[in-house]
Formats: sequence, C-alpha cells, structure tokens
Amino acid sequence: MFEKFLAGKTAVVTGSNSGIGLGVAHQLAKAGADLVLNSFTDRDEDHALAAELAETHGVSVRYIKADMSKGDECRALIEQAGRCDILVNNAGIQHVAPIPDFPAEKWDAIIAINMSSAFHTTAAALPMMRKAGWGRVVNIASAHGLTASPFKSAYVAAKHGVVGLTKVTALETAEEKITSNAICPGYVLTPLVEAQIPDTMKEYNLSRDEVVRDVLLKRQPSKEFATVDEIGDTAVFLCSDAAAQITGTTISVDGGWTAL
Ligand code: NAD
Repeated sequence: MFEKFLAGKTAVVTGSNSGIGLGVAHQLAKAGADLVLNSFTDRDEDHALAAELAETHGVSVRYIKADMSKGDECRALIEQAGRCDILVNNAGIQHVAPIPDFPAEKWDAIIAINMSSAFHTTAAALPMMRKAGWGRVVNIASAHGLTASPFKSAYVAAKHGVVGLTKVTALETAEEKITSNAICPGYVLTPLVEAQIPDTMKEYNLSRDEVVRDVLLKRQPSKEFATVDEIGDTAVFLCSDAAAQITGTTISVDGGWTAL
C-alpha cells in the first residue's frame, strides 16, 4: 500500500505473535519499520516468527517477552526495545459473563492487559519519542470502545478507557510531532474471535455459519469480517505524513457497526 517510508523507525507492537498484532506488524514492516514483537510467552516459535518477518520484509525484528498484565514488564518492554518511534498497544483478552457472575480476577486481568498496559507503555515510550522528535501512538481499541454489548463489562470498560487515554496522550503531545489515535475494529476473524464460536454454537444450538452471520456479524452491516491487513494498513496510514494532523481521535474499521 505504501512505499518504505518508515525505514529507520522502530515499532513496538504489544501482543504481536498472533491475530491483529501480527497483521499490524507485517504491514509496518512492509512499510520499512524495524520491529519489536511481544507476547507473554518465550517459545522457539516466537523467535522463529521474528526471524520469518525479518526475512520476509528485510527489516530488523526482535521478539521480547513481557507480560502486559504487569506494569513493570510493560515499561521494561519499551526500555529493552531501546527505541520506540511507533507504539502499537494491541495486547488484549476477552471474557464474557453477566456482571453478577463475572469473575473478579478476569475483570482485573482484562483491565490490566487491555487498558493499563497502554498507560505503562505510553509512559515509557513518550520520552523516547520526544528525544527522537517524532512519534506515533496507535491504540487498538474496538467498536466496543465506542458502543457496548451485554456480558462484556470488563472489555467494554477497558476499551472505552483506552479511547480516553488516547485523547489525553494526544493533548499532552499536541504541539509536538507526536500523534495518538485509536483504531476501533469491528469483528476481525482472529484466534480471539475464533475461540468464541464453539461456545456460542453450543449456547444457541446454531451452526458455525449461523453463529458467524447471525451472532458475530449481527451488528456488522457489511456482514464481512475486517481483515488483519486492513487494520495494519490503517495503522500504517496513521504513521504517514498525511495523518500528521490526525490526533486524539478514533478510526472505525467496522463494516458500518457504529453507524447503526
Ligand atoms: P488474539 O488472541 O489473536 O491476539 C491477542 C494477542 O495478545 C496475542 O498475541 C497474545 O499473545 C497477546 N496477549 C494476550 N495476553 C497477553 C499478555 N498478558 N501479555 C502480552 N501479550 C498478551 O486476538 P486479536 O483478535 O488479534 O486481538 C488483538 C487486539 O485487537 C485486542 O486488543 C482486541 O481487543 C482487539 N480487537 C479485536 C477484534 C477482533 O474482532 N478480533 C475486534 C476489536 C478489537
């Protein structure tokens, strides 16, 4: 989509050994950015994935293990990266239950991983961006950062929180060459969404196709999943000069969900 205009920049993408994070990493690397991939595991396949991206895109790629549920590890990720021109806060988990039954430890984990991690990484990354005189914060929020669904209390609260943090970050950096924005995807077919299908099939006694169309994509008017590449290209656009004055806002990639 874009020339290699991000050559010389380093992008740190949290939660990037799978799904949207990996898709965003691919598109940023395609545009020339060096990468730091992350998750909470430290498997051979995590490091192999980094080598594969480096080989595919001809950029430098490191994998750094850090658990985004822990504030000190979020900050250590950025410190170990050593440089962070582009910060993509993507790590996220989901749990679905009515509020009275929602396990408190799941609430705490979702708030920590989906929201507080972005505060910690941003706090560590802004001084580096200021030193470099340029920076981009791209938070992967959700249509659930703008609207709600029942049974997703922690997720919806965390994603609304991320949208708020995105705006504050934009205001605190408004006079610098740093922007902060949130991408709000609708449903994207990734392992996180895939994992919700079997339970929903059982709960409503539906086929896989029925779950996809009538449950998952019920609120997505296009009736199509967004792709990880589309989310990645939106992130690349936010890193471009064309987006220099786009800050403190959200971009929906949701097939019309939030237009309803
Ligand atoms: P996914 O499960 O494929 O990926 C989640 C990533 O986060 C993985 O790399 C995982 O290893 C990582 N992760 C989980 N816990 C972590 C932790 N404690 N520390 C570090 N990394 C951790 O899910 P996805 O669908 O790609 O979701 C990525 C982001 O996009 C999430 O923030 C999610 O809320 C958001 N999102 C997804 C959709 C969708 O439809 N898939 C829609 C809107 C927003």
